[in-house]
Amino acid sequence: MTLSFSLVTAAYIGATILFILSLGGLSNPETARRGNWFGVAGMAIAVVATVFGPRVLPFGLPFIIVAMAAGATVGLYAAKKVQMTQMPELVALMHSLVGLAACAVGFASYIDNSITFEGAEKSIHELEIYLGILIGAVTFSGSVIAFGKLSGKIDGKPLLLPGRHWINLGGLLVVIYAGHLFLSHEGVIAVLALLVMTALALAFGVHMVMAIGGADMPVVVSMLNSYSGWAAAATGFMLSNDLLIVTGALVGSSGAILSYIMCRAMNRGFMSVIAGGFGTGGGAAPAAGGEGPQGEVVAISAQETAELLKEARNVVIIPGYGMAVAQAQHTVYDITQKLRAKGVNVRFAIHPVAGRMPGHMNVLLAEAKVPYDIVLEMDEINDDFPTTDVAMVIGANDIVNPGAQDDPNSPIAGMPVLEAWKAKISIVMKRSMASGYAGVDNPLFYKENNRMLFGDAKKMLDEVLKDIE
Ligand code: NDP
Repeated sequence: MTLSFSLVTAAYIGATILFILSLGGLSNPETARRGNWFGVAGMAIAVVATVFGPRVLPFGLPFIIVAMAAGATVGLYAAKKVQMTQMPELVALMHSLVGLAACAVGFASYIDNSITFEGAEKSIHELEIYLGILIGAVTFSGSVIAFGKLSGKIDGKPLLLPGRHWINLGGLLVVIYAGHLFLSHEGVIAVLALLVMTALALAFGVHMVMAIGGADMPVVVSMLNSYSGWAAAATGFMLSNDLLIVTGALVGSSGAILSYIMCRAMNRGFMSVIAGGFGTGGGAAPAAGGEGPQGEVVAISAQETAELLKEARNVVIIPGYGMAVAQAQHTVYDITQKLRAKGVNVRFAIHPVAGRMPGHMNVLLAEAKVPYDIVLEMDEINDDFPTTDVAMVIGANDIVNPGAQDDPNSPIAGMPVLEAWKAKISIVMKRSMASGYAGVDNPLFYKENNRMLFGDAKKMLDEVLKDIE
């Protein structure tokens, strides 16, 4: 069965509309599920129309089917096995595959001599190949490093090579010159130019992400998401596949908008994130050891926590990465329901970079069926802390660090944070005094009105729930 060109075009238009509807749906938790299904339907149509389209010759079908079966098996296995806490790493790994695919398609298009281009068309095709491999290689190696940093396999601290901006500038000039050689020569020189550029792009991807400090990782995750879109769009140009161009552009631009949102959430300029180094202590003060916050830490028991919660009128829950690790979201909601039944006003405060991926906390709370109207963004709830009786911090750390406001030498100085310390009492639930992802001490723990509930969040919350009942 081979579909005609016009049928494939119609299918591509349908798939494009479904992808746009999908993105629209994903912008709101209430419509996200529907948005997901639009995406699934769009992708199914796109795959069927491409595989059975006129550009796949019958002898190619078995190869495609074997590749799809292998890919689907790995995908299914990963989806079943990967824990919710490993999702950010998985997403980074997926981005790397898009980059790798763009490189593979680029080299294949270059080697492929079944279609010959002449004159301007040839130059345009070669430029597409060059740019496709360039973006693909940066996305691939950058995402692999991001995977390493998010999974803790690579140290989160930024690697700051001396003269790193000059190294990058030098690399860029060589890439431009190699591009000139690639477009104006044939044979060995062109191949060498392509290989040099690929090696430099791979090195740049590694260097760029290695230079970015822990605190800036949210921007890196969304930026690589955007790059993977542009890599897909470049692949679309190489293959003259309009749907891939549109889909890549959708992912590329939505990733760019997300990067902008993340930058704003962290009060950081996009260019300074790329330049790297944030999360080091800025060279002004030691990030850890020596000058850490001083004072006494007051521990509290689960039973005392339950008493405080029952007596409160206004409670704000601040979830962070530790809630994801402990998988405590269902218990959190059980506690919320119990307290609400007793007339306590319980709301959730979500920091834009809480957890390890954009929207991480919203996903967990939605999974536990927490109603959306009590889940508020940082800007919506930050002014309410002075009238809050108990701010309960569950496995969060960097996002409630007052040092971001008070200490200009703090590695996260200037990042907006949830002002938990302004509540009458704040309770921080975590296992130890360890720092969070950015590796910064947290003065909140030593505040007079703060209590520490030490232990695994799920275990402690189970006890709190029992004591509330
Ligand atoms: P943090 O990483 O700052 O802190 C999480 C805390 O959870 C830790 O201090 C840890 O303390 C505690 N914890 C871990 N496991 C458990 C457990 N089982 N039970 C109880 N507590 C636990 O997380 P935040 O959410 O506050 O901040 C997010 C950080 O991650 C920011 O620095 C952000 O920049 C960064 N980031 C965010 C990304 C995003 O897109 N959202 C992407 C990449 C990085 P202890 O070990 O003592 O228990």
